[in-house]
Amino acid sequence: EGDISKINPEYIKSFQFENNLMPSTWIVVRVDGCHFHRFSEVHEFEKPNDEHALNLMNSCAVAVVEEFNDVVFSYGVSDEYSFVLKKNSCFYERHASEIVSAIVSFFSSVYVMKWKLYFAQKEMKYPPYFDGRAVCYPSIDILQDYLAWRQVDCHINNQYNTCFWMLVKSGKSKSEAQNCLKGTQTQEKNGLLSCQFGIDYHTLPIMFRQGSSVFWDKESKTLLSNDEVVEKFRKKIVVEHCNIIEKSFWKAHPSVLE
Ligand code: ATP
Ligand code: ATP
Ligand code: MG
Ligand code: MG
Ligand code: MG
Ligand code: MG
Repeated sequence: EGDISKINPEYIKSFQFENNLMPSTWIVVRVDGCHFHRFSEVHEFEKPNDEHALNLMNSCAVAVVEEFNDVVFSYGVSDEYSFVLKKNSCFYERHASEIVSAIVSFFSSVYVMKWKLYFAQKEMKYPPYFDGRAVCYPSIDILQDYLAWRQVDCHINNQYNTCFWMLVKSGKSKSEAQNCLKGTQTQEKNGLLSCQFGIDYHTLPIMFRQGSSVFWDKESKTLLSNDEVVEKFRKKIVVEHCNIIEKSFWKAHPSVLE
């Protein structure tokens, strides 16, 4: 005992277990803020949607897309972002724990680094952190269903939260507002917003209703060269608030997941 020369490194390493992500599948890493209900209260986020907080999340996603070449598409809402890696990615030999931890720690660092750009007047009171998970999707259709599911979630939560906070801001207690909304359907919520508050849900900012997508897009530019019209392409990272539930988005951007 106590003699380090007797330690066999191979034996020690044999306890390590790598969770390999299935080959030729789209890896999705979803990061989500831990206890952001509290974080958003302590930092006095505008309710239900703080635009600055969402823009900060988006800029973190842009940084991830810039840093990790294999990330081809990302979608974010509230305190979460999903990052899609290309199908044949060999990043970290597809070891789940390294991929997830690298992306989630990079995301958290950027969030803290950029905070001041979005909240110039607000001090960060304590360090936020995010958790992350990786899931493999074996076909483009299932991957698109995954992303559609996140956007449906964005829509349902946003509609509920918009009603909830309008009721609270108009003087109801949180539990009264909750009771008002219990069991209501989409149509009733839209009705409540327009009748009681004169708000047309569809005119609310599109970033709140649809979330944000960050991806490499082809930008085309027509130039005049030697009296000839030539089309030049350049790739750049874009932040859009598009409908990714409808297949037309994917048809219009065929090179994103190719
Ligand atoms: P967990 O640690 O389980 O993820 P959580 O408190 O982070 O718990 P979520 O379900 O992830 O809960 O929800 C995130 C919460 O953060 C929202 O319910 C909302 O209260 C708050 N939040 C996140 N982003 C914003 C924003 N841009 N504006 C206002 N509130 C926000
Ligand atoms: P990887 O991404 O594969 O981990 P790495 O560049 O981080 O690559 P490591 O094997 O983890 O390589 O080694 C960390 C390196 O960081 C060291 O080789 C050293 O160059 C540098 N480093 C870390 N801590 C210190 C320190 N306290 N003082 C000086 N150099 C340091
Ligand atoms: Mg969580
Ligand atoms: Mg959260
Ligand atoms: Mg969340
Ligand atoms: Mg290292």
